[in-house]
Amino acid sequence: MSSDSGSLIAGPGAGEAAPTGKPAIRGGLIVVSAPSGAGKSSLIERALTRVPDLQYSVSYTTREARGPERNGVDYHFVPEDEFLSMRERGEFIEWARVHGHLYGTKASAIEAEMAGGRDVILDIDVQGAEQIRDKMREAVTIFVLPPSRQVLVARLSRRNLNSADDLARRLFNASNEVGKFEEFDYVIINDDLERASAALESIVLAERNRPPRQRQRIEPIIETFRSGVSNG
Ligand code: ADP
Ligand code: 5GP
Repeated sequence: MSSDSGSLIAGPGAGEAAPTGKPAIRGGLIVVSAPSGAGKSSLIERALTRVPDLQYSVSYTTREARGPERNGVDYHFVPEDEFLSMRERGEFIEWARVHGHLYGTKASAIEAEMAGGRDVILDIDVQGAEQIRDKMREAVTIFVLPPSRQVLVARLSRRNLNSADDLARRLFNASNEVGKFEEFDYVIINDDLERASAALESIVLAERNRPPRQRQRIEPIIETFRSGVSNG
């Protein structure tokens, strides 16, 4: 899909000011979950470069940075006491313990992006997806499935994991996570990266055309028909 794929969106882009000067139309929330190593980050990275007005939500975590990961870009790496204080103050819209570490999404950060008219994409585990579903019915949830367990093992083995135990724990969790696929709005099988990326991008773009997402644009159009009737 080319970088001008935003042309599939009806009317102005999600964050573009409407011609009337009205405030930007509120963006949506897209949750992507998958077993570790299934390819979420690869798919999200591509979507971010190809879909306009799409913003990645940087999570907070208590785990150590791996390899080239950067604080504030890949994660906000925080000590456990800081994470627990944030949780105590109710700053997370969702949080979970995953593979032995704490992870959470700061509510105010995603709220600001959505209010600015951008869609926000989250890379979170299935427990976090459940919490988002309970709190925001309009959120769109996507499950990324690897083509097989063997392929998942191969993908995880290529990664810079801390230990053999870490690999075993991720595989054990994967067996439980894949059983939850039916709770999601969409399932993308990440066999071929190009095909799976196109699927993710098309979901994000298609969701922008849902009537509730376009109400501010639709109502003035419908009004022209109403006034047309009363004017004869
Ligand atoms: P996750 O974010 O779900 O943990 P990553 O995106 O980091 O997974 O992918 C795990 C590994 O698998 C990476 O080495 C990545 O390059 C590779 N990978 C992801 N998708 C594919 C694919 N469709 N085909 C082959 N390799 C892939
Ligand atoms: P990793 O340590 O490999 O970066 O991530 C481990 C898992 O934590 C992945 O499944 C990832 O989706 C999940 N994760 C990352 N950020 C969050 C978050 O903010 N909340 C929740 N619930 N899970 C997260």
